[in-house]
Amino acid sequence: MKNKLNKVMLTGVRPSGNLTLGNYLGAISNFVEKQNQYKSYIFIADLHAITSPKEPETLKKSIYDCIAMYLACGINPNKTIVFKQSDVLEHGELGFIMTFQTKIGQLKRMTQFKLKSEKCQKDGVDTGLFVYPTLMVGDILLYNTNIVPVGLDQQQHVELTRDLAEKFNKRYGETFVMPDVFISPIANKILNLQNPLEKMNKSDNSDNKGTIFLMDNIDIARKKIMSAQTDSYNTIRYDEENQPGISNLISILAKITKTSIQEIEEKYKNIGYGQFKKDVADKVCELLTNLQNNYKKYNNPRLLNKILKKGAKKAKITASLTLNKTKKALGLI
Ligand code: AMP
Repeated sequence: MKNKLNKVMLTGVRPSGNLTLGNYLGAISNFVEKQNQYKSYIFIADLHAITSPKEPETLKKSIYDCIAMYLACGINPNKTIVFKQSDVLEHGELGFIMTFQTKIGQLKRMTQFKLKSEKCQKDGVDTGLFVYPTLMVGDILLYNTNIVPVGLDQQQHVELTRDLAEKFNKRYGETFVMPDVFISPIANKILNLQNPLEKMNKSDNSDNKGTIFLMDNIDIARKKIMSAQTDSYNTIRYDEENQPGISNLISILAKITKTSIQEIEEKYKNIGYGQFKKDVADKVCELLTNLQNNYKKYNNPRLLNKILKKGAKKAKITASLTLNKTKKALGLI
């Protein structure tokens, strides 16, 4: 039986667009909190970023911005193995193998595929959108991962990983470790402030008033919170169905201040939306100011390259062992 320190935690973020408050609260902050308790890996999912075409220079910049922001958020490269997915070739190979273990129907059922493909019907749907979940399966299985902290939108992909790992182990013998998903009970799906029926997304335009980017100008971020869509109930109550906008703001405040939803409801029982929004804006702006100050310290390509190179070297050791084991199980070697 492994003790917790020998257990493995892994997560990744696509360097496409700028990181949002949703990425931070839903995934990165949970990882930062737990990084001392596990053998931890975090990667820049650059192969996932090309599921749909990107401008090469923009992608390159996003990769560095993303890793500098990881560090600014508190990921400690002395404790956590930080690397770029495309530097560890095993990701591509295991992803390819796992695609061949998957039924078309399984991928068609993925909610993210359904949602994203609906939006690009006109130009045709990129195959990358269809098969990226099996690349993610490979990402997770390569490191014998026990726990994957992600936002709610990625839960189904971790479940797919479990299904495929189980099927593979049954058919070819015990090869993969079964990963568990970790979804934070609070702030696991931060919604767009202007359209609280949709998730806040990294791919939203930079002028999207409903999306808080971690590098947003502080005054603009404040305005975005102050103009967040609410309702006419005039009660600060967590009710996702009837008050999605207010519930979203409660989640944001609860997660940042590490308080429970009930405590917030109690504290703001007789307080109006204006004051509540101001308090949320203060906390969000304080968070962004800290992150942006830290970011300046890490925005140094030489330092980032050094961290990525060291991380890839370490990641490759485990990744190549798992890939070899998989190929042996399949009869390829
Ligand atoms: P992505 O932005 O798709 O690369 O996702 C990176 C990580 O952030 C994944 O674990 C997502 O589940 C999480 N995430 C992305 N957007 C949100 C959001 N709006 N709320 C909570 N978590 C999110």
